[in-house]
Amino acid sequence: MAHSLPHSHAATFFSPLLTRKSHKPRRACLAITANAPLPGRKLRAAVIGGGPAGSSAAEALAAGGVETFLFERSPSTAKPCGGAIPLCMLEEFSIPLHLIDRHVTRMKIISPSNLTVDFGAKTLKPDEYIPMLRREVLDSFLRSRAQSRGAHLLHALVTAVDLPSSSSPTAPYIVHHTIDNSKRTLAVDVIVGADGAHSRVAKSIKAGGYTCAIAFQERIKLPDDKMEYYKDLAEMYVGNDVSPDFYAWVFPKCDHVAVGTGTVRAKQDIKFYQRGIRERVRQKIKGGRVMKVEAHPIPEHPRGVRVSGRVALVGDAAGYVTKCSGEGIYFAAKSGRICGEAIVKASEGGDTMISESDLKREYLRKWDDEYLMTYRFLDLLQRVFYGSNVGREALVELCGDEYVQRMTFDSYLYKKLAEGSRFQDVKMVMKTIGSFMRCNIVGREMEAFKFKV
Ligand SMILES: Cc1cc2nc3c(=O)[nH]c(=O)nc-3n(C[C@H](O)[C@H](O)[C@H](O)COP(=O)(O)OP(=O)(O)OC[C@H]3O[C@@H](n4cnc5c(N)ncnc54)[C@H](O)[C@@H]3O)c2cc1C
Repeated sequence: MAHSLPHSHAATFFSPLLTRKSHKPRRACLAITANAPLPGRKLRAAVIGGGPAGSSAAEALAAGGVETFLFERSPSTAKPCGGAIPLCMLEEFSIPLHLIDRHVTRMKIISPSNLTVDFGAKTLKPDEYIPMLRREVLDSFLRSRAQSRGAHLLHALVTAVDLPSSSSPTAPYIVHHTIDNSKRTLAVDVIVGADGAHSRVAKSIKAGGYTCAIAFQERIKLPDDKMEYYKDLAEMYVGNDVSPDFYAWVFPKCDHVAVGTGTVRAKQDIKFYQRGIRERVRQKIKGGRVMKVEAHPIPEHPRGVRVSGRVALVGDAAGYVTKCSGEGIYFAAKSGRICGEAIVKASEGGDTMISESDLKREYLRKWDDEYLMTYRFLDLLQRVFYGSNVGREALVELCGDEYVQRMTFDSYLYKKLAEGSRFQDVKMVMKTIGSFMRCNIVGREMEAFKFKV
């Protein structure tokens, strides 16, 4: 990203072009060898972290017959997050509708020169919306469901992971943890690291670091009339005053709004940019009371190592947040589920040991085939459209195009192939070039104007 943040949709408008499946040659097959049976017991898996990634992994593992331990250090706290998820996630992950706080049906995108584009008002179909949830509500629901499928939920802080002490393919991993300040250990066969951006599991397997953005947001309780304005509206602001390399946002939450921004390039100046977004929305949040201030890193790209031995990383621990939009909830849940199912499949329902090549074949390959190109393409878009005020003006101008909006919603809301038209795609590319040229001129005029005054 450079810059990932709460999830927004406008910037992902080219992603449908990406998600059209390419017929790439298959890589050489990883050898499938018979794994050792586990006489008298089931495969034991520790899932570290009870966010969307960990809970989804634990649910799939427990439902598939693996003895599953889900570790969560603080089940009652809320992850700093915008809480926007794609519509398809409701059905795919059977999320009850009553968990949704807000149905966002309108987005406004505001350029550096204050050009405002309404995104969604005309393009969304009557039954389409962006669900907004509180993370404490979503995460607790997903954890409880994993538990109801048979996972053992431990309110425990994992302090260290010991790798197997011998080269035996069945030697256990030892999970050190504390419960109520008392130190404990647990021996397991497999570990799923779902412990977010500061992943201890990643460190224990020397998975390497990744660049992170910092996201900062204030939860602001607004007077009723001001909250009414945001009841189904999310706003996204771009410009050098609010972020040098990403966007700033106002997202409606259950009874307040989240106002925030993010950056990779200038983390030390994050408060300056937060003042910038507050200034832009000054009138709209007037009379508001700050309830909470929060900041959290967002990974910029997948880690170099995501599987090592019988340990797999998922969600933010693996680095699965998309550029441009900063969307990570769906990808966390999806990667957790794919990884859990991979372990179930390789262990034949928990009856045999698994190996590194099983995880690489059944989890990593499947994930990369599905999403790697999308990550790379969104990275490119982010660099083109968020890097300068010219790019940002062009982005906002393009977001006014109905075709761009429809394709963006199709790919974001449903995470599936958006059936575009080649003719319209070509038109879109031409329009992009036109927008850049026009915005270059506007940019120069704005600079000249600033110089004169
Ligand atoms: C400000 C902000 C806004 C965002 N907005 C959006 C948005 O609107 N939509 C979107 O899709 N994405 C958004 N994201 C990204 C999204 O929040 C993440 O991608 C997502 O939470 C990743 O889920 P996860 O399960 O991988 O990790 P996390 O949600 O970080 O969960 C990790 C869990 O592991 C637990 N844990 C960590 N270490 C340990 C340990 N040692 N022992 C036990 N437990 C441990 C933590 O307590 C936590 O519950 C946003 C991010 C930020 C920072």
